[in-house]
Amino acid sequence: MRYSKADRLVIIGSGITGLMTAINARLSDLDVYLLEKGKSPSGSSTRIAGVLHSGARFAGWDDELAKVCFEEWKWWISVLEKEEKKIGGYFLKTKAESDQYLESWLNSLKNIGIPFTEVENPYIGGDIKKESIDRFYFLPEIQINARKLLNKLLGLAINLGVIYLPSSIIEKVEHTEGGYRITVRNKDTLKLEGIPVISSGIDIPKVAEMFGINVTSKVYQGSHILLNTDLTDLLEFVHKPGTYDLLIPSDFGTFITPTLVPYNGLTISEEELAGLNQVLKNLFEIEPEVIGYMIAGRISISSPVSTLKGDYLAYIQDAILAWSNNYACGRRLAYAIADMLGIKKALTPAHI
Ligand SMILES: Cc1cc2nc3c(=O)[nH]c(=O)nc-3n(C[C@H](O)[C@H](O)[C@H](O)COP(=O)(O)OP(=O)(O)OC[C@H]3O[C@@H](n4cnc5c(N)ncnc54)[C@H](O)[C@@H]3O)c2cc1C
Repeated sequence: MRYSKADRLVIIGSGITGLMTAINARLSDLDVYLLEKGKSPSGSSTRIAGVLHSGARFAGWDDELAKVCFEEWKWWISVLEKEEKKIGGYFLKTKAESDQYLESWLNSLKNIGIPFTEVENPYIGGDIKKESIDRFYFLPEIQINARKLLNKLLGLAINLGVIYLPSSIIEKVEHTEGGYRITVRNKDTLKLEGIPVISSGIDIPKVAEMFGINVTSKVYQGSHILLNTDLTDLLEFVHKPGTYDLLIPSDFGTFITPTLVPYNGLTISEEELAGLNQVLKNLFEIEPEVIGYMIAGRISISSPVSTLKGDYLAYIQDAILAWSNNYACGRRLAYAIADMLGIKKALTPAHI
């Protein structure tokens, strides 16, 4: 089901999904209220590792998602041309891993069009025990300053006339014909009427419940392991068990992302830590005491049915629920929501 006409959106959550949706809707002349429970955007979008995914990490096991990521990557590249640093990244194959996956991964990259180059001696700033690694491939992944970009988008949204309401608490929700009346407390108490877009990240189930909508979800924690060293040239190491590892040099922090582990109360289990320590020791000769933690939440919603692969988008009981699986996909969601609302896909790189 789709809305035939939309006049006003009440967007709940000002992460990348909410912001991109707000900007696009304003460009189509809708009235937009953007509610945020924090003083400013405070969800996963502000805490990410800052990798603009080329899709390479999904190639070979989920080509459809890899394709989507690559499309979004190209869009953001055209936006970030001058501002952000393109540093590239390395994908590495350890000797312990099979040649079969390498072959299917390379074929997928070629089919999708993601550029890559095999390199003999990658510069990663750290000490790599090369005897444990077979091959290195250079990839166009990009390190972005996610918070800086988010603030810029927020400024743009406000300039376009989005009414931003930070420090907002939703007190009451009433279902009206084709929309909702939402009572919000921030400095004052406001009654807002319009079509809700619930883009509250890991809090989607909690907010949806206030609208009488039941959403089942799994929450994962991103187990970013921060290396507590004073290396100036740093690494990001993304490990997908049984497949490949990706190294992304960065100049502001060393991140090691072994994998997403099931949410377990904001700690990493002994077993996972032991596995990670082994990987670090084997590859970089890094000792466990240099490891620290950085934690944020990530949601995975399996029902009700999403209309998008990878991201989550659903229209339930006159409300739109949206969550982006990665930062770059905020634009894709804004376009998909425009389709639902029957409005233009107005947002172009020139606006940003
Ligand atoms: C550790 C980690 C690392 C990641 N690294 C990367 C990466 O390198 N590259 C990448 O592309 N993606 C990365 N991701 C994924 C990416 O961050 C998310 O997919 C994306 O930011 C989700 O954006 P969102 O707008 O849907 O949700 P969020 O960014 O979580 O935004 C939700 C907003 O809603 C607000 N909110 C919640 N409840 C309410 C309420 N009741 N009322 C009002 N407001 C509310 C929150 O305060 C928040 O500001 C990472 C995720 C994690 C967890």
